[in-house]
Amino acid sequence: MKHTLRALALAALLLATAACGKPGSPPVKGPQPEDLPVYKVDTGFSLPASRTWEKAKKRGRLVVGVKEDQPYMGEKDPASGRYSGFDIEIAKMTAASLGFDPATIEFKTIASANRETALQNGQIDYYVGTYTINDNRKKQVGFAGPYFMAGQSLLVRRNEKDIKGPEDLDGKKVCSAAGSTPYQRLQKEFPKAVLVAYDTYSVCVDNLLTYQVDAVSTDDSILLGYAAKVPEELKVVGKPFSKEPYGIGVPRGDDALRLALDDALEADEKNGDWKKAYEATLGLSGQPAPKPPAIDRYPAG
Ligand code: GLU
Repeated sequence: MKHTLRALALAALLLATAACGKPGSPPVKGPQPEDLPVYKVDTGFSLPASRTWEKAKKRGRLVVGVKEDQPYMGEKDPASGRYSGFDIEIAKMTAASLGFDPATIEFKTIASANRETALQNGQIDYYVGTYTINDNRKKQVGFAGPYFMAGQSLLVRRNEKDIKGPEDLDGKKVCSAAGSTPYQRLQKEFPKAVLVAYDTYSVCVDNLLTYQVDAVSTDDSILLGYAAKVPEELKVVGKPFSKEPYGIGVPRGDDALRLALDDALEADEKNGDWKKAYEATLGLSGQPAPKPPAIDRYPAG
């Protein structure tokens, strides 16, 4: 309940600030539907070797796990219920390659700490939400991709003078999401920081704006989105201090699905849809489209 109230307070603040956009500040509007690519649905596609794909086909809907509070990556409009952002576009373009019209996707919000369980118990068919590929997680789920390279960074209040990088965090209150790689890295490599964990980064940002914490730490791709929404209140400082390759999470062992998603990503990187999708979403937070990282078709097992 307390969290809901905080989230509402943040939403109100973001909306209020968005309404009075200053000249020269980054666009505060979300991705515009007319700027988004229209993905070609491969209607003849079939993948009988994938249990997940077969189940989704019978159901007539693809269930994709995402984030709903990460501007330009995965964000849900509370009024329309519509999801938007780069991860949402990655979900739509890969769904189209797998023969699912993006209109048949059911998006489900799943927090960082619950991704592995959601994939393991069949709550979702796959997951696209700032999900770092690493060996530990590969013991529990499979990953297609990577489709983007992010890096851990720091978000502070605009008037902050002391925090310029992770080495300045001793004794400072730093907020991150439970079950995330940035949280784990702070715990291990910066043990003098006072860690605060919530389910979502938007609650962390709310705590930063209300002086409950001194910094929020997670991927630059996520933090730049929050900063772009309220540039007069927040800033991202320092250089990214990790590599976070984003993958599409799939149920472990469904290698047919994993490899089909790898093919889909590669095709979209080649045909220009990946770049168009980036420019219409994450590109709005101020960074030009990078070259996507090489797809890693790792062996089954
Ligand atoms: N990419 C990091 C992770 O997968 C942080 C972002 C997130 O929590 O989704 O843990």
